[in-house]
Amino acid sequence: MAHDIHIGLDPANFFVSHQDSSQKNNSQKRFLRVITRAEYTDWVNHQTQTVQDWLENLRFSPEVGKTVLIPQENHHLLALVIRGESVMDSLAAAYDCLPAGDYYSEGLTGFDFIQAAIGWGLQGYKFERYKKNRTSFSKRLIVSDQALEIILNYCQAHYLIRDLINTPAEDMGPSELALWAEKIAQESNAQFECITGQDLLNKNFPAIHAVGRASDDEPRLIQFSWGNPKNPKVTLIGKGVCFDTGGLDLKDAEGMRWMKKDMGGAAHVLGLAKLIMAAQLPIYLTVYIPAVENAVAGNAYRPGDVIKTRKGLTVEIGNTDAEGRVILSDALCLASENQAELIIDFATLTGAARVALGADLPALFSNDQKFSSLILEMGLKYEDPLWPMPLHQPYKAHLKSNIADLNNMSKVSYGGAITAALFLENFVGENITWCHIDLMAFNTSSRPGKPEGGEAMALRAVFHAIEKKYGTQ
Ligand SMILES: [Zn+2]
Repeated sequence: MAHDIHIGLDPANFFVSHQDSSQKNNSQKRFLRVITRAEYTDWVNHQTQTVQDWLENLRFSPEVGKTVLIPQENHHLLALVIRGESVMDSLAAAYDCLPAGDYYSEGLTGFDFIQAAIGWGLQGYKFERYKKNRTSFSKRLIVSDQALEIILNYCQAHYLIRDLINTPAEDMGPSELALWAEKIAQESNAQFECITGQDLLNKNFPAIHAVGRASDDEPRLIQFSWGNPKNPKVTLIGKGVCFDTGGLDLKDAEGMRWMKKDMGGAAHVLGLAKLIMAAQLPIYLTVYIPAVENAVAGNAYRPGDVIKTRKGLTVEIGNTDAEGRVILSDALCLASENQAELIIDFATLTGAARVALGADLPALFSNDQKFSSLILEMGLKYEDPLWPMPLHQPYKAHLKSNIADLNNMSKVSYGGAITAALFLENFVGENITWCHIDLMAFNTSSRPGKPEGGEAMALRAVFHAIEKKYGTQ
C-alpha cells in the first residue's frame, strides 16, 4: 500500500479571470460564439461577405456539437459553436477543435454561461497519474472573478470524485480512502474519526466487519461531522467497496474488470461534502463511509452464513456479491440512532438499476415524495438528471429467509434495484427523510464533458436540493 495522497489535476488549468487574461496585451483575440441551429441562418446573414464565403467554401453545415473556426480581421479568431438542447455540452463539444489560447465566450450569459463553463472544465479533465508523458494544457476560458469561484468549486468536487474512482484498488483500498476522507475533513475543520478492524466488532458494526474481514487492508467505518450541531442534521452515506471480487460467489473476469469503481458512492459523498462545506450550507453535516474490500480468503464470509447487523436484525447471506447493502445497513442504523433528519446514501448497488435506466441515469428511491421531487427538479435544471423508482412494499416478501430475519438476496431475479432498496429501508429509523441513489459512477464511453472512466452523477442535483431545502447562510 502506497499510503500517499495524490493530488490530481487542478481545474484552474482551464480558466482565467478577465484580469489575468493574456487577451489584454495580445493583439490576437479569440472568441467563442455559441448559437443554436435555428439561429444559424440569421447569424450568417449578419456576417460580412468574407465570412459568408468562408463558410460556403468549407461547406459548413450547422449540426449540433459542431465547431467551425473563422478568421477575423486583425488576426482575431472566432470559433462558432452549434449547440443543441444541452447548454452544458456546448463549450465541451468545442474544446477539442480549438487552437491554444484564452477564449472569450459570446452569446451565453448568467446561468447558461456557468453551466457551459462547467462543461468546458469537465471536458478538460484527464487522469494521468500513471502516465510518464502528461498533457500540457493550453486552452482557457475567460471568466469573471465571481464566476470563477463557483465554477472551480463544482469542477474540483467533480474531479475529486473522478480521481477517487479512477484510481486502481491497489492505491485506493480502505486505508487510502480513509486518508482521503481525513484530508477533505481537515480542509474544512470537520471532526474526523475512523473505526478500524476489530474495533468494528467492539463498537457493534458486525456487518461491515463480516464483509471486509477477508482483506489484508482492514475494513473500517470512516466518518466526519461538520457545522453547527444546532443546525438540521443531514447525513450522507457512501458505499465504499474499494474492490469487489464478488467474494466467494466470485464474479467472472468481465464482471470484475471495473470493480475498482465499487467505491463510487463513497467518492460521491466526499465530493458532495466538499461542495456543501465550501458553500457553508447551514446544516450539521455527517458523512459515513463503510469501507471494505470484498475479498476472497479462508476467513471470508460465506454463502449461507447468517451475520448480525448493528440493528440486531440477522441476515442470511444468499449471495456474497450483494455485499453493498450489508455494509450500508450498519451505517444507516448509526445515522438513525444519531437522529439525522435527512439521510442520503449513494451506492453503486445493483446491475438491475442499470438494466432499468441505463448507465447515465441514477435511480432515486425515497420515502419522501416532496424532497425527492425537489432532487428530480434540480437534476433537470442543472443537467444532472436522476429517475424515480418505487419502494414497492409487496416485494419485501422476496427478502424473506427461513433461518434469519432477512436474506441479502432476493428470491426472484426481477426488480433487483427495488429489492436492494427495500433491504436498506429496514435499517432507516422512523420519521427520517431518506433518499437512496443507485448509480453507475462511470462513463463507459467518452462524450462531450464526460470522458470515459469514473464520473460524478446526481452531484449537483442533490447539492442544490439540499441548498433549496435548508437555504444558504
Ligand atoms: Zn458485489
